[in-house]
Order: sequence, then structure tokens, then C-alpha cells
Amino acid sequence: MFVRAPRIVVVSPHLDDAALSMGATISRAARAGAHVTALTVFAGDPDSVADAGPWDRACGFGSARDAARVRREEDVRACAILGATPAWLAFADVEYEPEHDADAIWAALAPCLAGAQLVLTPGFPLHHPDHEWLTRLLVARLPADAPLAFYVEQPYANTAAIGRGYDRASLGKVARIGVRSAAGRRLQAPQPSDTIGQIAATPLEWIAAGADAEARDAKRRAILAYGSQLDGLGGRLTERIRLYEWGWGGEGVGLKQAGAAADTVET
Ligand SMILES: [Zn+2]
Repeated sequence: MFVRAPRIVVVSPHLDDAALSMGATISRAARAGAHVTALTVFAGDPDSVADAGPWDRACGFGSARDAARVRREEDVRACAILGATPAWLAFADVEYEPEHDADAIWAALAPCLAGAQLVLTPGFPLHHPDHEWLTRLLVARLPADAPLAFYVEQPYANTAAIGRGYDRASLGKVARIGVRSAAGRRLQAPQPSDTIGQIAATPLEWIAAGADAEARDAKRRAILAYGSQLDGLGGRLTERIRLYEWGWGGEGVGLKQAGAAADTVET
């Protein structure tokens, strides 16, 4: 299966989520002629006077301003590799702004979605509070028949399935996913009891968005363009994501059955 629509918006909470999670789908769709926007909502303010938050400090930044500027430059490079157009909203992430202003963010976000035949937003596992908040906003404010679909988030999904370390238990999970066993599939599959099951009012069908070698390679190179993030996201990042997608069959997309977004998926 693959995604085909003339105009696609991938909603990226932070500067890297779209590439990490949907990079191959973006690359393949762009090569097929789609206009794909990687829309980062919490892209930070390049004129901020705030000190760096904990994550940005751990990534080597001294100020919020530097983090926003450098991370946007990384996003430009990654999007160029994928064939996407970057777009940024200058909102601060949860480390700088624990309470987001839903009305202000929606007022900036909604026009960016106009005319899209497919809007992809984080769906699983929604462990990061900004990701969950944003998807709740989209589900609440978009019409029920909007072409909204949900994506499996990396590296969170592979961390949830495999763990972060390389102990005996995690290596066993790597093996189950690597041989594409039923047990491996169960480790990977979103469940109705997961957060997205509670947010989406309707059951979702999770599919694998197939990619070709060129798309997978573009994704790998795009991820590496986010140089400031790589240490913090953990070792063997691209290999771990590739393993997860090998086991699943591609990047994961959750579709409302018979929804408008389902029409953009070709088998
Ligand atoms: Zn994120």
C-alpha cells in the first residue's frame, strides 16, 4: 500500500517528527508528484530570549533562540532530501510552555491544512505530551469527515516495542520483530486501549505504507540531517527504525475505515 494525494500535510509536533516517522512516505509521495508540507507546530521562536529548556540544553544549545534557529536549518536540509516543503509555526514546546493556547495554535494551524487531501498527525504511541495534545486538537477541531489519518511515531514506537537498551529481553523482542513472527507483530500493533483508541471516535485500521529503496534511503539521510538530535534520540537510531518498519512492512498509518483519508491509500 502507498499513499497518493496531490496535496499532503504531515503535522510534525517538533522539528524532526515528520521525517523520523513518515520520511519514506513523504519521499515516495513527493517523487510521485505530490506537494508535501512538513508542518512543524512547536518549531520554537528564533527571536526568543528564553534560556534553553532541558532537552535543548542536553542537545548542546545555550538558548531557545539558538535551538530554534539551528533546528530549523536542519529541517530545511531534511525536507530538501525528502522533497517536502517545510513550514513552521513559532510555538514553544511543552518544556517552555506547559499550557498551550489551543485557540491561538488552531488559528495558525487551520489555514495550513486548507486544501489538503490528506493530513497526517501523530497517532501511536502518543507518549510525548505535545504529540498527544496536538492530535487531540486536530480531532476536536477538524470536521468528522476531514481527511485525517494517524501515523506511527518514531522513535517512540520502536522504543515502546523493543525497549531502549540491548539487554536479553530487548534482544529477544528484536528477534521476534526481525523474523516477522506473530509475537513480533503483537509487540508492534496499536491496541484499541491505546491513547489513540480513546481519542479517535472510531476504530482505526493500521496499515503499512510501503516504500521503495530510494524512499528508505532518503529517510535515513533526512534523519541524519537532524544532527543536534541524534545523541539524545539514542544509538543506532536509523537501524532501529528500519528494523521496526521491516517487521511492520513499512511506516505505520492509522486510517478511519471508509474515511476520506482511506481514499488516498492505493493497494
Ligand atoms: Zn516530537
